[in-house]
Amino acid sequence: MSLPSRCAERPASSLAIGGAVRPEILRNPFQLVDLQRRQVEYLRLSVTDRCNYRCSYCMPAEGVDVVPRADLLDFDEMVTLTRLFVQLGVRRVRLTGGEPLVRRGIVDLVRQLAAIPGVDDLAMTTNGHLLANLAEPLREAGLQRLNISIDTLDPRKFAEVSRGGALQPVLDGIAAAQRVGFASIKLNAVTLKGLNDDALLPLCDFAARENLVLRLIEYMPIGVDAFWGPETWLPVAETRAQVMAAYALEPDESGEIPGGGPARYWRGRHRQTGQELRVGFISAVSEKFCEACNRVRLSPTGTLRECLSARGSLSLRDLLRSGATEAALTEAIHDAMAGKVEGHNYDAAVPTLESMSAIGG
Ligand code: SAM
Ligand code: SF4
Repeated sequence: MSLPSRCAERPASSLAIGGAVRPEILRNPFQLVDLQRRQVEYLRLSVTDRCNYRCSYCMPAEGVDVVPRADLLDFDEMVTLTRLFVQLGVRRVRLTGGEPLVRRGIVDLVRQLAAIPGVDDLAMTTNGHLLANLAEPLREAGLQRLNISIDTLDPRKFAEVSRGGALQPVLDGIAAAQRVGFASIKLNAVTLKGLNDDALLPLCDFAARENLVLRLIEYMPIGVDAFWGPETWLPVAETRAQVMAAYALEPDESGEIPGGGPARYWRGRHRQTGQELRVGFISAVSEKFCEACNRVRLSPTGTLRECLSARGSLSLRDLLRSGATEAALTEAIHDAMAGKVEGHNYDAAVPTLESMSAIGG
C-alpha cells in the first residue's frame, strides 16, 4: 500500500461526504446518530494538551505550542458537556490528552465525572509516568479502566521513542494499577519499523505473564513530521504475523475483553511455553474500521471532533461561555454530527500536521 506523503492539512470542506455535507440526520433528542446511522455512545475527552513526554510518533522533538490555560475547558465545563453527551446517549467516557495525569486536580475531575448518572464506564489512557502515586486515588475516585502506553521494555529504546521518558516509573505505575484492582488494564504500543518492531514479542510475553491485554497500534499519520514515512510505518499484517509466529492465536469472539473500540482481539497460547495471551490489533490505515466508529472527541479547548481526521469547527467552549442554552448546544452537536465523514482518508490523501497530543488521542 502506498503511504500518505507529507503536506498541508486538508480543508474541512473536502472532508464532507461526496464533497458536500448532507443535510438530513435523525434528530432524536436522546440519541446521537450520524448520517451513516452510526450511533455515538463513546466520548473521548481530552483534558489537556500538555505532556511530560515527546513521543516520536505523536509530536516533534521540540514539542508543540500549548494553548493558554484560560483556553482550556475548566472542570465545570467538562462536567456540563459530559452530562449533555450522556443525555444524547453516551455511556462510556475516556479521559485522554496530552497526558491526563499532568492536569492538576485530575482525581477531582474523575470523581465528578464518575458521579454523573449514565456514565457506565469511565476510563483513561495514560503514559503511566505519574501513575504509581495516582493509581489508588484514581481508582477510589471512580476510574474503572486504564490503558497504559508502553512501546518497549528496553529502557534505552523507551527513552529514545518517548524522547526523555523513563521506563521504570511506567512499570511502577502498571504495578500500582494492578494492586488497586482496576476493572481492566490494557497496554498500548505503537508499532514502529526499525524502532520497536524487535520489542513486540517481549511486550507480548510481559502482557501474557502479567495477565494484561496488549494492544498493538499501527502508526497513524497524525502529528506528522519527518518521523512519518515508509521507514517507520509498519503495516498491521506484519505485526500480526510476527506475533503469530510465536503465539498460536484465534480471533477472540468471547466479548469478554471490555472496550468496544477499534481493536480486533485475538487470544491464544505461546507455541512453546503455553502461556496465554490476549492481544488486540488496531489499524486505522491498512485495515480501517470507520464503519464501526461509535465515538466523538472533545479537544482540550472544547472543540468537537466528529472524526480524528477532521479538524473540528464547533467550539462548545465558546457556546458555553456565551451562555448558550442546553437546547442550542444539543442542536449544534447534532449539526456537527451531520457533517461527520463516512471514513478517514489517511491511505489516499494527506496526513494531519496537528499532533495527537493537541487533538486528544
Ligand atoms: N499521553 C497518553 C498516552 O500516551 O497514553 C494519552 C494520549 S496519547 C495521544 C493516546 C494514545 O495515542 C497513546 O496510546 C499513543 O501511543 C497513541 N498515539 C499517539 N500518536 C499516535 C500515532 N501517530 N499513531 C498511532 N497512535 C498514536
Ligand atoms: Fe506520548 Fe501520549 Fe505524550 Fe503523545 S500525548 S507525547 S503519545 S505520552
